[in-house]
Amino acid sequence: MFLMRVIPNCSPILAELEHCLFSCFLPALFGVEVSVAERQLFTLPVHMGGLGLSNPVAVSNHYFESSVSSSALLRESILGAVTFELGAYFDSVQSSKSMFGKLKSDYFSGVFNSLIGNFAAAQQRAILRARECASSWLSVLPLRSHHYDLSAQEFRDALALRYRKPLLNLPPVCDGCGSLFRVEHALDCRVGGLVCQRHNEVRDAICDLASLAWGQVQKEPVVCEEKMDDPSSETLIADVRIRGVWQSQVDALFDVRVVDTDAPSYQSRSPQAVLRTAEVEKRRKWFIWLRG
Ligand SMILES: [Zn+2]
Repeated sequence: MFLMRVIPNCSPILAELEHCLFSCFLPALFGVEVSVAERQLFTLPVHMGGLGLSNPVAVSNHYFESSVSSSALLRESILGAVTFELGAYFDSVQSSKSMFGKLKSDYFSGVFNSLIGNFAAAQQRAILRARECASSWLSVLPLRSHHYDLSAQEFRDALALRYRKPLLNLPPVCDGCGSLFRVEHALDCRVGGLVCQRHNEVRDAICDLASLAWGQVQKEPVVCEEKMDDPSSETLIADVRIRGVWQSQVDALFDVRVVDTDAPSYQSRSPQAVLRTAEVEKRRKWFIWLRG
């Protein structure tokens, strides 16, 4: 980054670096080759579905021009052409950053729009989801205290899921039902226990985070016991009870549902629409109980 900012026309000397990124680093990261379109996608910021791995050949001139523009007033002051004023200098840097930030944003939007059509439908769906709502995990600090310090395997798996690329080192068959093991099967198999595990992981994460903010947090509280004189009744258990969330000294119940928004039956609907339906179904369940 520093070299790009201070050396004009340095893109030719960065070609080897880009070649290494494309042909060595990214294949090693994903465990499979990446296409030219994928490489271009990965140059975008994470909030636009990319990985923030710029192509140094493509952006070096932009960085140099941005640096020259930002430091123009400082340079002229050193040369004695103008009198240095701190306020004017900060204003000039801010103005330059805004202008080049806007240019960069427009450039990234153009790249995204020209690229998205090159991917298969399933990959497009994953990329659009990553752009809209599933990228913060790539830009947070990897704090161990918050369990953000992913292992190498976890990081690679998360990247593979983000771009619908194959997961490495999957077992050949499901240890629950013996079927061929694929990501789709792991998300759907009711026998192997993974469905239950990922639900409980979300529940436990909510409990941990809620405990930092509220004192009274309970996992799997029994909300209503089964009535002995009513065979149709059943015990109602929430996932988490937290006191004081919406109102002081009042319990709030939380019910977790984890949905595979890429399941074949959901392909005609957006992930957000699938999640909204799941939310409505959960609410309906509790409203029925409240009315009953
Ligand atoms: Zn199975």
